[in-house]
Amino acid sequence: MDDYNNRLNKLHSTLDILLKEYDRLPDAAYQVFSIEAEIRSFELRKDRLNLTFSHLNCSLCKQQITEEDEAVRLGLRGTFLICPRCIRTINQVKGTSELEEQIGLKSPGTIKQDCEGPLKPLQAECLVRKSEKCWLVHDVVSDLFYRVGRRRHNLLHSWIDELSERLNMLQDQKQLLEEIRSFIPDYHTQIYSLQYQIQDLQSKLDRIKGGKLPYRCSQCGVWIKEGGNPTFFGTYTICSNCKEVVSNVMTTSEAEKKHGLTAGTIRRDNSRGLLDKYKKHGLFRLSGKIWLVHDVVILDKYKELKGEEVPVTKRSEIPSDLAQRSASIFNRIMEGKRG
Ligand SMILES: [Zn+2]
Ligand SMILES: [Zn+2]
Repeated sequence: MDDYNNRLNKLHSTLDILLKEYDRLPDAAYQVFSIEAEIRSFELRKDRLNLTFSHLNCSLCKQQITEEDEAVRLGLRGTFLICPRCIRTINQVKGTSELEEQIGLKSPGTIKQDCEGPLKPLQAECLVRKSEKCWLVHDVVSDLFYRVGRRRHNLLHSWIDELSERLNMLQDQKQLLEEIRSFIPDYHTQIYSLQYQIQDLQSKLDRIKGGKLPYRCSQCGVWIKEGGNPTFFGTYTICSNCKEVVSNVMTTSEAEKKHGLTAGTIRRDNSRGLLDKYKKHGLFRLSGKIWLVHDVVILDKYKELKGEEVPVTKRSEIPSDLAQRSASIFNRIMEGKRG
C-alpha cells in the first residue's frame, strides 16, 4: 500500500508542476490529461486492494462524501445529502444580469443576446438554458467566452481538435516541402524536424482517441465513463450528473409550473421567511432581480425528498479529495491564464 501511496504522491507533484507551468508547457492539455490517466490507473489498482471502506454518497452526484466534506442535509431525517462540489455547481448557475455585473459587461442584455447566438453550442450541455423567460448561464461561460474577448474559439474547438489541426498543418507543410525540395537548401533538416513533430502528435492523438483513457469532469472531478468522447469546450467538460445538477437550477416560475404549485407560492413563502434555511447554501438565492431555486428545495419543502438511508458500500469512484483537486484544476488553469 505504501508503494501505491508513494507513487501517487509523485504523480500528484508532477501534476502540480505541469499545472504551474501550464502556459509555457507545449501541449499542456495533453500532458495534464496523460498524468491524470496514470493517476486514475493507480487509484483503481489501489482501490482493488482496499475493498472494505463504506461511505455516504452525495444524493445528487453519487460521489463519496468524506469526513472533511461538510455536506448539506435535507429531506426525511436529513438523509438527502449534498456535497460541497454540488453546492458549488448550483451556485455557479446565474441569471444574465448577475453574470454581466460579475464580468463587468457594460451593455446590459449582451449575454441574453449571445445565448441565442454564439453561446448556442453550450445549450446541449445545459451550461446555457432557458428557464421560462430568463436565460440561466453557468459561470464557466465567462471563462470560456467573455474573458477571452468573446472569441468563439473555445466553444468550437477542444484541445483535442487543436492537436488534430496542428497535425494536419504539419503534414501539409511536409508535403509541400517534398514537392519543392530542390529549391530548399536545408531541406533535410526541415523534413526531419517535421517528421518528428508529426510522429509525436500522431502518437498523442492515438493515445487520446484509443478510448482507454479516462476523462474527468471539470466540474466535480469524477471520471467520465460514459461511452464516446465527451464534449470539450477548450479543456472544459462536464459529466451527466453535473449537467443534471445544473439544469435543475431554475426560476421560481419554472419550478412552480414543474411541480404544479400555484404561481407566486414561492415568493409568498419567501416573504414569510419559510425558505430561509435554503438561502444559507445558495439553494435558493437572488441573482440580479430573479430568484433561482434548485429542484431539491421544492421537493424538500412542498413534496417529498428522500435520500438513501443505508450507506452505499464500495464504489469504484475516486476518493473525493482527489475529485476536489481535479475539479479545481480547470479553475487553476483558468486563473493562471487570467493572472
Ligand atoms: Zn455531489
Ligand atoms: Zn461532474
